[in-house]
Amino acid sequence: MTFASVETIALDDNSDQLNLVHHVEYLVDTSGKLTVNDVQDSSREGDWQRPVNIIDNVNFGYTSANYWFRFRLHNNTGHTISKQLEIGYPVLDYVDIYQQFSNGNSVNLSMGDKRPFHDRPVNHRNFIVPLKLHQQDVVDIYIRVHTTSSMQVPLMLWRDTTLLEVAQAEMLGLGIYYGTMVVMILYNLFVFLSVREANYLYYVLYVACMALFLASLNGVSYQYLWPNGIWWNDQSIVFFLAGVVLFAALFTINFLRIYEVFPRLRIPATGVVIISAIVMLATLFLPYSTMISVVIGWAVIGISLAITFGSYRWLSGDSSAKYYCIAWYAMLIGGVILALNKFDLVPRNFFTENATQLGSALEVILLSFALADRLNVEKRRRFEAQLHALEHERIARLAQAEALQQEKNARLAQEKALLHEREARNAQDKALDIQMRANETLEYKVKERTHELEIANKRLEELTYTDGLTGIRNRRYLNRALEREFSRAKREKLPLSLLLIDIDHFKQFNDKYGHLVGDDCLRTVATTIEDSALRENDIVARYGGEEFCVLLPNTDQPGAHQVAELIRQRVHQADFQVGGTAVTITVSVGLTTCIPERHHEIEQFVSAADSALYSSKRNGRNQVTAELPSFGPNLQPAPGPATS
Ligand code: GH3
Ligand code: MG
Ligand code: MG
Repeated sequence: MTFASVETIALDDNSDQLNLVHHVEYLVDTSGKLTVNDVQDSSREGDWQRPVNIIDNVNFGYTSANYWFRFRLHNNTGHTISKQLEIGYPVLDYVDIYQQFSNGNSVNLSMGDKRPFHDRPVNHRNFIVPLKLHQQDVVDIYIRVHTTSSMQVPLMLWRDTTLLEVAQAEMLGLGIYYGTMVVMILYNLFVFLSVREANYLYYVLYVACMALFLASLNGVSYQYLWPNGIWWNDQSIVFFLAGVVLFAALFTINFLRIYEVFPRLRIPATGVVIISAIVMLATLFLPYSTMISVVIGWAVIGISLAITFGSYRWLSGDSSAKYYCIAWYAMLIGGVILALNKFDLVPRNFFTENATQLGSALEVILLSFALADRLNVEKRRRFEAQLHALEHERIARLAQAEALQQEKNARLAQEKALLHEREARNAQDKALDIQMRANETLEYKVKERTHELEIANKRLEELTYTDGLTGIRNRRYLNRALEREFSRAKREKLPLSLLLIDIDHFKQFNDKYGHLVGDDCLRTVATTIEDSALRENDIVARYGGEEFCVLLPNTDQPGAHQVAELIRQRVHQADFQVGGTAVTITVSVGLTTCIPERHHEIEQFVSAADSALYSSKRNGRNQVTAELPSFGPNLQPAPGPATS
């Protein structure tokens, strides 16, 4: 069998690598039902065509059709040649390779990321098909591809050793990239655990999603992480890309302080986060083919917003936003280069192939710088705030100290004032005390003087009313008493009696014994009379010479007579000695009694007593005689005169 139009690729030992895309033909099977025999049928020869406008890759975009590729190899040499066919897009779902040798042998292989990884003949992230052509062998190779990812089928024919070398370099590049990612993840995770700043966690999750997204895209994760996870291998790409958007959004909102700087964007920004989370969740349930365009669209919107806000913040002078923007630019450039590469607008080489990884690694490192810068800025700000607070505290403490001092001063002043007041009060008290004492002294002195005066007066009075010789009342006192008692007797209508007593023959006595003995005699008679007048109100006085008088208030005539008789008897019996010889003394007594009335005179009353005394003398002395006053008979006269 032959297919004339197909170019035969002659193999030799010299070529290290051959890009088959320039030698390949393809056929589109929209029915998806054609078998390898069907596409070999001569009737379909017209459906095969050469790709146009290609640089080094074929890319038919997203399609549900089966794509067939074919080319022919011829070993021109005289020995067996081994080559490796590489299909360099690891996310293709189903890849079937049919080798049909000219001698009728055929070898069929099935692989793809919807098939277990271990179906592959070579443990490689890309699809590798080992080819062995004996001398002069011709082999037709048909490749059928069905995929929900974009229909890209880079075909490369490698010399064994060259592939080994290239694979080594490639693995070194990937190793560096994933190593970097792991280091950044671990480092920032530790930073997060130590500073508990949410942004570090978002960053770590973002980096993890980014690394896993690229690992899924590169086939590395399928090769090393989940070689049997057929369903997950497909979904993981959209899942992690959605994760990239979600955590980039959270990181950006937090890092650029969107809520603080653009308060109006609080709701839309929160909306972006919620939608991103929903999209991420949806990737677990909806098929890859549905989600891939949604996620890519959402990622483009999200990244555009992130870069817009970042640039704005940078222009507004946020120094941390500078690193943030450069990081995203790096990522964007990497993405753009990848896109250009995928659309065959830039040559496919190590740099362009790994542009995304490079951009991503750069971004991750720069974002880490940005975070560190932010941390520094925050630290500085916190330090400054702390300094500020300390300064405030110092000022406050000074103010407090001043206030305390003032309070203390005020208290001292108050205490001083109180002290002054107390002193003033003490002084006042003392003055009052002095004054009071002075008053008391004065009063006391006045009282004393008054008392002295009173005593002096009394003494004077006593002297005035006392007889110098006998010590009894004198005639002046008697006159007063007589007036007083006479008036009272009138007022109260009580009897009043008067005795006049005269010593008998006193002239002879004096002549016989001398005046001094006479004076003694007078004293003895006075004492005897006074001892005989027993009532308290009775008044005894010397009337003059050797005469005595006794006034008896409220005493009727019989009572008075009794007293008079008692006096006469006692004098008569008195033991008076002169020079060792007893001498008898006698007295004569005149008595009168009345209840005086208004018109009665004292003189009449005294005269009656005098008259009675005269009668006693005349009748023989040493006797008592009673006589009524001239004014009236309102009193019974005493019974007859008593005689001794
Ligand atoms: P009769 O019985 O009539 O009363 O006689 P008589 O001597 O007592 O009366 P007379 O009136 O003649 O004398 C009174 C005398 O009393 C005169 C005088 O010597 C004496 N006599 C008067 N006063 C004092 C006195 O103070 N001291 C002394 N020793 N004698 C006095
Ligand atoms: Mg006489
Ligand atoms: Mg006489």
